[in-house]
Amino acid sequence: MIKELFSENKQILSFEVFPPKKEEEFANAFLVLDSLAGLQPDFISVTYGAGGSKSKKTVEIASYIQNNLKINALAHMTCVGSGKEDIDAVTAQLKEANVNHVLALRGDRPPYMCDEQFNSRHFPHASDLTGYLNSSTDFHIAGACYPEKHYEAKDLDSDLLHLKKKCDAGAEFLITQLFFDNHVYYEFLDKARSTGINLPICAGIMPITSAKQLGTTVSLSGSSVPKKLADLIATYGDDPAEMRKAGIDYAIEQILDLKIHHVDGIHIYTMNKPKVAREIVSAIR
Ligand code: FAD
Repeated sequence: MIKELFSENKQILSFEVFPPKKEEEFANAFLVLDSLAGLQPDFISVTYGAGGSKSKKTVEIASYIQNNLKINALAHMTCVGSGKEDIDAVTAQLKEANVNHVLALRGDRPPYMCDEQFNSRHFPHASDLTGYLNSSTDFHIAGACYPEKHYEAKDLDSDLLHLKKKCDAGAEFLITQLFFDNHVYYEFLDKARSTGINLPICAGIMPITSAKQLGTTVSLSGSSVPKKLADLIATYGDDPAEMRKAGIDYAIEQILDLKIHHVDGIHIYTMNKPKVAREIVSAIR
């Protein structure tokens, strides 16, 4: 069980991967996973489409991690476009595949979803999905959290009160949205603890290896870009090799500082790039 690893008094190392879009890409995805497995992470999480239509691919990749690589697989599951029956169906597939850890998420509103559908969704929030899974399955459940607040939340205080509901509904540990400024994370951690959120929290780190990737990442995550990272992009953005090195060094520096501050875990958003993950892991171990 992943939650037990936290109490063994060590810092967890975990990775996030995404499933391939097409069937013919699975062979390569398995090679990526083999390579990541060589870095001996404590768990690997697998993303899920917000609408749930590609859930089988998440199950297939999570199954490979759990059964072939013998590493804890954490399957993401979103509920924004799902009713109880859809969630039950994915639950059955995961159980069949021997996958017992789930990251319960609401998911972003898919572009095709009209206001009426969005406003009448069966599970309004991730805490509702967490509560449902907690009462209807024996999954070990994790939740997402946002050091710079979720983009829909009025402020961090209200977002943290909602996060507390997710914890009370049965989450066993949390993983943060990616962030580039550790001070933002330390402040979030202080506030979370004083809100009564005492679960282990894995700090989400994404290595930025190109200027284009930073643009996409920031627009999707809403994470702020500190001056130091903006300066790196300005200096190395036009030189792919130098930018890659500078981005990896930035992530290594962030992680080393987090480790000194005794964070519970480091979760690397690998973007399915095992070479980048390898360079980071060899520098931080
Ligand atoms: P929630 O916890 O439901 O929060 C969403 C908003 O609702 C917040 O503003 C919160 O403050 C508010 N809220 C929560 N509970 C209540 C309540 N009871 N009353 C009123 N307001 C409330 N997306 C994917 O599609 N697939 C993935 O695989 C995926 N993986 C992710 C992994 C991580 C680690 C993270 C951080 C995010 C991931 N996402 C993924 C993105 C996520 O789905 C979106 O950020 C989504 O908009 C919110 O999901 P949530 O589970 O955090 O939602």
